[in-house]
Amino acid sequence: MHELSIMQGVLDIVRDSAVQNGISRINKLKLVIGSLTMIMPDSLRFAFEVLSQDEMFREADLQIEEVPAFIRCHACNSETAQEDAYCFVCSGCGSNQVEVVKGREMYLDYYEGDCV
Ligand SMILES: [Zn+2]
Repeated sequence: MHELSIMQGVLDIVRDSAVQNGISRINKLKLVIGSLTMIMPDSLRFAFEVLSQDEMFREADLQIEEVPAFIRCHACNSETAQEDAYCFVCSGCGSNQVEVVKGREMYLDYYEGDCV
């Protein structure tokens, strides 16, 4: 499962950063995921449950913010949300000269923890 390795990567990054900052227990972490990444938030939550059994992550609360896709139209310069992830057409003027400006992101927004 794709999401399992993604979550493992996220937890490795948080763990490294926490250790460097003297934090021994994570309370909360937040991920931002664009709708075009094809990453399933439910699968990520499941992966988190599986991978967060150790001392550092046991109490942690995972938050996931889903970002819808946005496109910018080169013909009329408007920016619109996009429901269909496979066909990008400006809903203002119908042009397909568009560029995806949001929805491909996937990053760790922040984490919070305690120095115990
Ligand atoms: Zn347009």
